[in-house]
Amino acid sequence: MHSALRPAAQPCFILAPGLTSNRNGLTRASCAHELRRAPCVWLARRRFPRQTAGPQHDASCLVPSFHRQELHRQRVVALSRRRTKRTAPLDIVAERSDSGNAQAVSGTQFQQEATPTGAPGKVYDRVVCKFGGSSVADAERMREVARLVRRQIELSRQYPVVVLSAMGSTTNDLIAAGDAALYEGIVDSTVVRNRAYAVCDALGLDREALVDPLLMQLDQLLMGVKFIRELSPRTRDYLVSFGERLSVRIFAAHLLYNEGLPARAFDAFDVGFRTDSNFQNAEILEETYDLIRSFFERVVSNQTLAVITGFIAKDNEGHVTTLGRGGSDLTATTLGAALGATEVQVWKDVDGIMTTDPRLVPNAIPVAEMSFEEAAELAYFGAKVLHPVAMQPALRFNIPVRVKNSYNPEAPGTVILRRESATMDRPVTALSVKRGVQLVDIVSTRMVGAYGFLARVFACFATHQLSVDVIATSEVSLSLTLDANACDMTRQQRIIKELQQIAQVSFSSGRAIISIISNVRRSSEILARAMKVLHEQNIEVQMISQGASKFNISLVVHNDEAITAVRALHDEFFHCSPSASNGTSTSATAAAAAAAAAAAAAANADGVRVAGAA
Ligand code: ASP
Ligand code: MG
Repeated sequence: MHSALRPAAQPCFILAPGLTSNRNGLTRASCAHELRRAPCVWLARRRFPRQTAGPQHDASCLVPSFHRQELHRQRVVALSRRRTKRTAPLDIVAERSDSGNAQAVSGTQFQQEATPTGAPGKVYDRVVCKFGGSSVADAERMREVARLVRRQIELSRQYPVVVLSAMGSTTNDLIAAGDAALYEGIVDSTVVRNRAYAVCDALGLDREALVDPLLMQLDQLLMGVKFIRELSPRTRDYLVSFGERLSVRIFAAHLLYNEGLPARAFDAFDVGFRTDSNFQNAEILEETYDLIRSFFERVVSNQTLAVITGFIAKDNEGHVTTLGRGGSDLTATTLGAALGATEVQVWKDVDGIMTTDPRLVPNAIPVAEMSFEEAAELAYFGAKVLHPVAMQPALRFNIPVRVKNSYNPEAPGTVILRRESATMDRPVTALSVKRGVQLVDIVSTRMVGAYGFLARVFACFATHQLSVDVIATSEVSLSLTLDANACDMTRQQRIIKELQQIAQVSFSSGRAIISIISNVRRSSEILARAMKVLHEQNIEVQMISQGASKFNISLVVHNDEAITAVRALHDEFFHCSPSASNGTSTSATAAAAAAAAAAAAAANADGVRVAGAA
């Protein structure tokens, strides 16, 4: 049932479905081994498998992600196939790139050795579409999402894999219901039930069959919580899992009955999502990737539109776990990685990742393209885009992630790619602001040239479980930032005391970190321009650090100057109208600035610190 494609006379190794299959006797390892040995690799890849595919279509090559990894290592880039007639030998157009020089070879004749006989739909080149809670908040939104799914089918001529969050605020409502049962002995799932019923009714779906069984289990669980008076992290995960399980069932039914699409709802743990038992913030186990692949091969043919729960999984004991709040993005990128998806689309309620927070800078614009590293830096420094963990599978398996707006699908959104695939050439990608941070100044009292100083300082922060964001050091001093809510007065006193023997420690609050996510090769230019505009605005920069990741230059300023600073920097780097940069604040920001100024006045006054990058 498998076929192999062999070149007429080329020293290459060709991947074909037969060669990628375990069932065919070739293990993954040996396949990968062959690939490594091959002098060069040609790959025939079909882009849009058609449902009406005849044998010739199945003869084209489907390449799971692990093979693509190998291929990338070998720098084989673009591959496509031109098919003339169904029965004619396949005409392959491949592009090979060694050391960056792309070279197109066309018209190489490949003979088809065997004709597959209707192999079950093994489809790897899928698009994964994830829709967040606000995208599926009610029946109207669900209809809109169905339209988006339809459009995706038209575009890629195959069914996407759909991942859904819980509808609207369902996750929070479930947590509230759990707490009410635990603390007040009240068993009440009305909010969750009413939303599910309202959506079913509006979509004309049978709520008894669809959601009642789940809602009954939910009530039983709440009853249990009430009587046992216990709500462990494990039970909480089981509790919130109802949100996603409800939404996929309703949405799949809508696609099936109202849209006539062959949709099927799946719980992620049935699809293969396995995690450790760190409830509420579980980590995905490596075996998940194989489990997902084999599940798709066995159960989800290319005739099925899978609608899968985000956020939830199971541990090896079979207990439901969750991936942490906002974890559906991670579900989507993991599926994308396992299936070697062409793209993971994350549908949110914003036009992609913005150059900066539009609430602070109204003329912020969407960023068309950025690298995984830049997106991760942005996420760490306060931009609510994608969780940094969600980027990991996509980065590892090189799957582009596109952030789109389900309220404005025409907007192109932001695509997150590997750095080398990105085409951008601009000094600054985005600016992020994290306000309300504490600055800690540590000046060594007798440590010039001595060793162990930094080690002792960090050991102290580690024992207090304080996470340090930005650091700058000189020979005798160290400045670092902490989250404002991380260190209260008593802790500060203790730290000051603990480090007394080696250093003077002072805490100042009311600071902000402005992160310039940028191209490090142009860091001197960026710094020169940034300092110039900040100087023009009379803004005192208290600390500078260029992160080890080299995508981030962080500046620490006073909270009350942060908005002015970020507007000025935004105008400088994104060429927006200068009107917003003249320091005039809106009334809301003026109030915020006044509050911040009061906080800053209460803190110690500090000199300017500019130290070498840590
Ligand atoms: N429903 C979950 C939450 O609200 C997961 C998600 O939305 O990604 O955190
Ligand atoms: Mg949510």
